[in-house]
Amino acid sequence: MNDITFTSINGSKKVISSSAIDAFKAQLAGSVYPAGEPGYQEARSLWNAMIDKQPAMVVNCSGTADVVACVKFARENNLLTCVKGGGHNIAGLASADGALMINLSPMKSVSVNASGRTAKVGAGCTLRNVDHETQAYGMAVPLGINSTTGIAGLTLGGGFGWLSRSYGLTADNLLSAEVVTADGKITQAGEGGEADLLWALQGGGGNFGIVTSFTFRLHPVGPQVLAGLIIHPFKDAPKVFRYYNSFVSNADDKLTCWCVLRKAPPLPFLPQDVHGKEVFVIAAIYAGGIKEGEKALEPLRKFGQPIADVIGTVPFEGWQQSLDPLLTPGFRNYWKSHNFVTLSDELMDTLLDYTTKLPSPHSEIFLGQLGGQINRLSPDATAYPHRDANFVMNIHARWQDKPEDDRCAEWARKLFDATAKYSTGGVYVNFISEGEQLVSSAFGKNMEKLSRLKAKYDPDNFFRTNQNIKPKA
Ligand SMILES: Cc1cc2nc3c(=O)[nH]c(=O)nc-3n(C[C@H](O)[C@H](O)[C@H](O)COP(=O)(O)OP(=O)(O)OC[C@H]3O[C@@H](n4cnc5c(N)ncnc54)[C@H](O)[C@@H]3O)c2cc1C
Repeated sequence: MNDITFTSINGSKKVISSSAIDAFKAQLAGSVYPAGEPGYQEARSLWNAMIDKQPAMVVNCSGTADVVACVKFARENNLLTCVKGGGHNIAGLASADGALMINLSPMKSVSVNASGRTAKVGAGCTLRNVDHETQAYGMAVPLGINSTTGIAGLTLGGGFGWLSRSYGLTADNLLSAEVVTADGKITQAGEGGEADLLWALQGGGGNFGIVTSFTFRLHPVGPQVLAGLIIHPFKDAPKVFRYYNSFVSNADDKLTCWCVLRKAPPLPFLPQDVHGKEVFVIAAIYAGGIKEGEKALEPLRKFGQPIADVIGTVPFEGWQQSLDPLLTPGFRNYWKSHNFVTLSDELMDTLLDYTTKLPSPHSEIFLGQLGGQINRLSPDATAYPHRDANFVMNIHARWQDKPEDDRCAEWARKLFDATAKYSTGGVYVNFISEGEQLVSSAFGKNMEKLSRLKAKYDPDNFFRTNQNIKPKA
């Protein structure tokens, strides 16, 4: 092992001798990957190919003891750290140049307590790992819509998906967490521990410590559900969009319908002449009985003349993975996002107009339907404050080649600006591509309490590679 040059917490260079690295390694059960050595590229990899930050060294942690050792080593040597769960953060906040990357992705245990309806989940799990174990018991935690996302970043930002209208955010279902705090101590948040720390973890991001395991409340779901896609031709989009809007505003909590404006991918159930043309897609799930679901979805399925209706009875675990092929790693991605209470005619027309200007075949605008159980909590019940939003829009520019960066990001920025006047002004912390100025929009009125808790749990802002909350002076 050679000497390694790190970035220190104040941004200067800091050389750590080979003997100090060897002594650190001897404390770990997991593996260490200095920059340039075999295994480093995989260990530091992120979902968004736009981000190419180079940590000085990655530690693949095998458990809590390794996380404690990393925090203590970084503190003793004043090193900048970054923490990787699933590596999906759009802004690449799991990585930082010259940092010590604390990679939790090997920590994939899931243990279900069926009678108590809880699951204890390791911080390196993907959503797929969680669904796989909980569905064996016919239960689920409300998670996101792409199964390769990390449970850690998703939960710490809020987390919504197909079950959130029925059962709340992922963070709302967090009962307790084990956390390694900035002083290297193992602390319990929630049941049997610190209540205010749990509150901060329920939407305040990775600011308060490194969560090593999460304990969630489980709900009975599936294992079969009614779910699928309805795809309309773009020429009908203005009237379908308006119908969608009125239909979902009266939907019961078990029904969730997201819509996606994009060019049709070459899906086997779509006629070839539609491939590559703009379409209006509705993705729907009924998180209850199949018969009730058929009744609830009937009016939406009968409306207009869709090109395809592939709603059917499917395994819930499979539905959770159904959009994965459109969201594989390796592409360049840039996101802009707004929250909306309602969808006005002008807003819908603007979205349709920008759909005709999509910058690449893989780009899309999606509207996730929120509301239901999410919005029954008050904005200060957890750190996630957006309890008024009924829709979250993500403008997702996605392309392959670097020379396209400016053109694709520009399309997203223009649409973001054009729709700002319809938004609540709040933004989902996990959808921020860039811009520190958006951090206050992400935490809203909870910012003050979060800065106080930051001062309590991390007064030196040791955990700063995140959507950063500064400790209150
Ligand atoms: C394709 C795709 C689909 C998505 N779909 C949804 C969706 O349906 N619903 C939704 O709500 N969100 C969705 N997201 C957003 C997702 O919630 C965020 O990207 C989230 O940050 C991913 O978590 P991660 O662990 O993979 O992130 P990482 O990139 O590993 O980490 C994100 C941040 O959390 C910090 N962090 C990670 N682990 C820990 C830990 N254990 N303790 C403390 N801090 C930690 C990191 O340092 C970093 O700042 C999606 C993202 C992608 C890329």
